Amino acid sequence: MSSQRSQHDERLELHGRSNGKRGRLHRGRQVTHVIGSGPAGLLAIIQLQEKSRAMGLASNCVMYGQQLFGSAADPTVAAVRCQAWCHPGSIFAQTQPHVALSLWRASVPVLRRLAAPAFRENIPGVLLEATTGASDHPGLEESLRAVGIPHRRLPSRVLRSFVPTIPRNVLSGMVAYLTPDTVIDLPVLQWCLARKALAGGMRHVPAQVMQLVPTDKTPESIAALVLSDGQSVSIAPDDEVVLACGAGIHRLLQPLGVNPLLRFFQSHLVAAHYDLRALLAVVGGGINAVPHPQPDGRTLAVFGNSHRREIPANTGPLAVAYNTLDVHGVCADVANVLGIDLPSDDIISWTGVKTEYVTEGNGAQGHHVARVAGLGNVWTLIPGKLTGSPAAADELARQMLSLRLGQAVSRSIWQVPGPLPNFAGALTNVTSE
Ligand SMILES: Cc1cc2nc3c(=O)[nH]c(=O)nc-3n(C[C@H](O)[C@H](O)[C@H](O)COP(=O)(O)OP(=O)(O)OC[C@H]3O[C@@H](n4cnc5c(N)ncnc54)[C@H](O)[C@@H]3O)c2cc1C
Repeated sequence: MSSQRSQHDERLELHGRSNGKRGRLHRGRQVTHVIGSGPAGLLAIIQLQEKSRAMGLASNCVMYGQQLFGSAADPTVAAVRCQAWCHPGSIFAQTQPHVALSLWRASVPVLRRLAAPAFRENIPGVLLEATTGASDHPGLEESLRAVGIPHRRLPSRVLRSFVPTIPRNVLSGMVAYLTPDTVIDLPVLQWCLARKALAGGMRHVPAQVMQLVPTDKTPESIAALVLSDGQSVSIAPDDEVVLACGAGIHRLLQPLGVNPLLRFFQSHLVAAHYDLRALLAVVGGGINAVPHPQPDGRTLAVFGNSHRREIPANTGPLAVAYNTLDVHGVCADVANVLGIDLPSDDIISWTGVKTEYVTEGNGAQGHHVARVAGLGNVWTLIPGKLTGSPAAADELARQMLSLRLGQAVSRSIWQVPGPLPNFAGALTNVTSE
């Protein structure tokens, strides 16, 4: 198959020349094939383009995916079904400070640089902490300070102006903090990221990848991609394939006998028209509400909670079932915690699936980048959160470029896994001799 030039190979070359300039996608040069046109895939291409350019290297990137961010009809596409909450890490500062640090330092600044118009700056974030109840974790303020996330305690008068219809007695049991959490306009984010990637030379093939075809050599790598339109694309020995297709990763790797150890979690969101002027989140994994201003002037508040259930790894779009009981659960939490009775005849609700690489516990919000064991030229990219896509893509681009340079790149001492050597102890030993 690899010796045969398929129609798509020709098309990629033609696309390279179609703007009248010298084609940027050159045969004989290494190509990165990114499968999945969601936030992770787009950011991977942008990071590869920016870093390659800074290092004086060429970057030839092709993206496969039927449409930007994916179809809302497919319950396994997370980006079009999410709440569009831009996480600076505040909600994770107490329990997963490493995730909070990565979001605040490595992801949010990049998203703001690449997609400033997508940030709904007029919607502030408010974290609510119940004044009762013991916690195993450090206090919220202490945790936010440790990660460096700006925050300010809100007087109840100001809090009430953000949430005018929430009953006073509900809020009296909560302490509120203003944080940099905010709302993203998803179509504007898609447009900003796509425009940037296309301007950097990305080629987009509007098709799904149905199959990865391995070489018949050992160790194996991928020799071709079979697309949904029946075409095939040959993968040159130096090319690389990035699986940035969320739940689709398992569907592509399973037929090759590769288990990428991913887990899949389904949850439900409920939306209703409700006058909410801030993004609200109850710390400790409770209920949250993300307001989306609508063209008619009203606000659609999207409510979610931490209740989610694990679903089997081989989940295809048709196997994801909408669960009425789970929707009632979200509505009950909204009523119990925030005192808001959602009108049962005027809500919309849907389900979504999140793909995670979990090493301990029952979930992981952090990103994960890996080379697939046994398939030399294939990588997996899991952003953890949509907001975490820049940090995930940054790590992928660094690892790929280090390998491409053909040199082992030294790590600083603080980047070496495992406990740090105890220099203080060593000094004590020396002085006591
Ligand atoms: C209910 C819910 C709410 C969430 N809310 C938030 C939130 O408010 N804020 C936040 O930061 N994160 C949120 N998340 C998490 C976030 O949505 C995901 O982490 C993020 O979308 C993952 O991005 P991705 O690009 O890896 O995958 P996805 O968004 O799932 O995109 C995968 C892409 O790959 C494509 N694809 C799949 N298979 C193939 C194939 N074979 N060939 C070609 N293309 C393929 C799909 O069509 C799609 O375009 C939420 C998740 C869920 C489930």
